[in-house]
Amino acid sequence: MLKVQGIDVFYGNIHALKEVSLNVNQGEIVTLIGANGAGKSTLLKTVSGLLKPKKGTITFESVSIDGKQAQWIVKKGISHVPEGRRVFANMSVEENLELGAYLRNDKKGIKEDYEKVYELFPRLHERRKQQSGTLSGGEQQMLAMGRALMARPKLLLLDEPSMGLAPLLVKTIFDIIKEINSTGTTIMLVEQNANMALSIAHRAYVIETGRVVLSGTAEELRSSDQIKMAYLGGH
Ligand code: ATP
Repeated sequence: MLKVQGIDVFYGNIHALKEVSLNVNQGEIVTLIGANGAGKSTLLKTVSGLLKPKKGTITFESVSIDGKQAQWIVKKGISHVPEGRRVFANMSVEENLELGAYLRNDKKGIKEDYEKVYELFPRLHERRKQQSGTLSGGEQQMLAMGRALMARPKLLLLDEPSMGLAPLLVKTIFDIIKEINSTGTTIMLVEQNANMALSIAHRAYVIETGRVVLSGTAEELRSSDQIKMAYLGGH
């Protein structure tokens, strides 16, 4: 479904991604694991069109998407939930969700998706009139995910959804990610919490200083001594 081939990405003269290649198949949850600054967020931003690769190609459903505008990429079916959530603080929950659907004009479909999002996140329904800036961190994460789903993506890019959340809430968010996937949305997940990410992912790529150094099924990586020592706290 998504094919990234040999991409190089720079910030000025900082070489953030080096010859990165990976693929995501339809229906999968694929996770990117790596230390701070490894290049995980940069990779998601490049897929969603916020950054342009200097070299290499990205195709989505066999169509070339590298170098295209972010909005065009959303229309093709890729939604990005960036790190740090970034909801529109002065708008209500409902208005934020409405914005997620701004590129669509299928009223009936949009209405169905509101219902789906509220079903997935009952908390958002309870709070639908509340100003988003006053939501808790977990609720803002739910809203950011809900807003992305309002674009009815085929591929959802999630950047650190568990960041700063209490353990119980992390579990809730991961259960919801699994549920989103089970209803047909393919997911690419960036996580610091490698244990949790590998527990729901089908496959994983390990990124170190801008390069893919290892990949395999989630099970393979969970049982690798190298991964256990470096990313799973040695357990
Ligand atoms: P984290 O988990 O800490 O977010 P990450 O793996 O997502 O890490 P990136 O945010 O992709 O890492 O950063 C990769 C490299 O690019 C880092 O060295 C970072 O300092 C650098 N970088 C990221 N954004 C910029 C920017 N806007 N300008 C310059 N350098 C940047």
